[in-house]
Amino acid sequence: MAGFSDSLLRLRASFSAGKTRPLEFRCSQLNALLCLLRENEEGLLDALYADLRKSRFEALVTELRFVKNEAWTALNNLERWSRPEGVERSFVTKLDHCFIRREPLGVVLIIGTWSHPVRFLLTPLVGAMAAGNAAVLKPSEVSGRTSETLASLIPRYLDKECFAVFTGGPSETRRLLQYKFDYIFYTGGSPVGKLVMKAAAEHLTPVTLELGGKNPCYVSPDADPESTARRLVWGRFLNAGQSCLGPDLVLCTPEVRDRLLPALKRSLREFYGPRPRDSPDYGRIVDRHRFRRLRDLLGSGRVVLGGEWDEEERYIAPTVLVDVKESDPVMKEEIFGPILPILSISSMGEAIEVISRGQKPLAVYVFSSCAKVIREVLDHTSSGGFCSNDNLMQSSLNTLPFGGVGSSGFGTYHGRFSFETFSHRRACLLRSPGLESLNVARYPPYNQQKLNWILWVTDVRRRDCSCSVL
Ligand code: NAD
Repeated sequence: MAGFSDSLLRLRASFSAGKTRPLEFRCSQLNALLCLLRENEEGLLDALYADLRKSRFEALVTELRFVKNEAWTALNNLERWSRPEGVERSFVTKLDHCFIRREPLGVVLIIGTWSHPVRFLLTPLVGAMAAGNAAVLKPSEVSGRTSETLASLIPRYLDKECFAVFTGGPSETRRLLQYKFDYIFYTGGSPVGKLVMKAAAEHLTPVTLELGGKNPCYVSPDADPESTARRLVWGRFLNAGQSCLGPDLVLCTPEVRDRLLPALKRSLREFYGPRPRDSPDYGRIVDRHRFRRLRDLLGSGRVVLGGEWDEEERYIAPTVLVDVKESDPVMKEEIFGPILPILSISSMGEAIEVISRGQKPLAVYVFSSCAKVIREVLDHTSSGGFCSNDNLMQSSLNTLPFGGVGSSGFGTYHGRFSFETFSHRRACLLRSPGLESLNVARYPPYNQQKLNWILWVTDVRRRDCSCSVL
């Protein structure tokens, strides 16, 4: 952290000198980031394995490929995204040139988290770079190997005058937050999210908070148990459950639960074998502190599948709990681990009530073959995103915004949304110095005739439209 203020001054000087603004520079840095990913794939995969025992497959698909695709999307569209956007003009601005110009915000701070430590640091960076900002990156100390690897690689590939990485833990993050940034993009838990927002308020810095929450999943009686189980097992136990979009609880009737359990058991065996601990595809909990929190949650309800653990290895078996109550610890907090509780409810209406009683989550899921059921859950709940008959997949499409609502955070990114997040939309009206006679009506001394004219020319009239608002 030593020399941080010097680095920040350097970044600010580069930004003020306009270094990050030209499209050529932005593209060169996006290409450099792609080069970093390409040339250091093995090192990054090793680091992810050391931190989370993340399999090569998951690391490539959910981390490296994800960032690469974001960078390519930005490169493919940057010229179009950056073009000034013409707007509809009013009667009094008919002769003017009116447009929105996307401008970079300045020096931005990106604070990442450990669960997908490459993706949650570099995906926002793609947006910040594409929009022409300078950026300070703060990877999570919890995924220490990945953090160190990124901290050593980034200065070798990206322009050091415009991009800097600072490692460290909570105290370093708190120190960083004392400085003025032009935007802060934070991914992590809500307690730290609140600290980030308070620190940002001191400088009136805008923020995006990508937080977590309990993602509920309603399984309707008409859902196919086999495909539902396979998709749920994949979504919940990927990265050993340490995924912000993972289904955090299943809501279904006891009859659906009894059909689902054997299918869940079959899927678990099919995916991870008879001993998930020996599966090369099953991850580990990132650290001891988080391991112990999860182990304690195993005491909620009744374990029907899994339940084994080993502290030395930070291993928790893929676990399914039944007979849980809303008052159980596993229902009170986001699990963020390989535990799937099933809460029995009597109807879809009750499932919707349970979902609505909770904080707004990052995602709501529903499994059903009936479009009406899906529509009911969609219409009567609120969440950052929504997906029917699957989970996690909504975040794979970068033409959809990714982000939370309410306690799961605010602000969105991915694809164009990242570019928009890190851009200021500057309202521009270019008027000619001539035609002064057209302006006389708005100048004092005022009179009734001028007022009538101004009211007439500025009136917004209701158009015929199909919406049936009175
Ligand atoms: P974490 O411990 O990695 O913390 C995130 C960042 O905050 C780190 O860079 C860390 O250095 C910093 N930090 C930690 N404690 C701090 C403190 N006291 N003061 C200042 N800075 C501090 O991550 P976590 O909180 O364990 O993350 C897990 C949470 O993140 C879960 O709730 C999960 O749902 C959420 N998450 C959200 C998303 C999303 O995209 N919405 C993605 C991944 C994780």
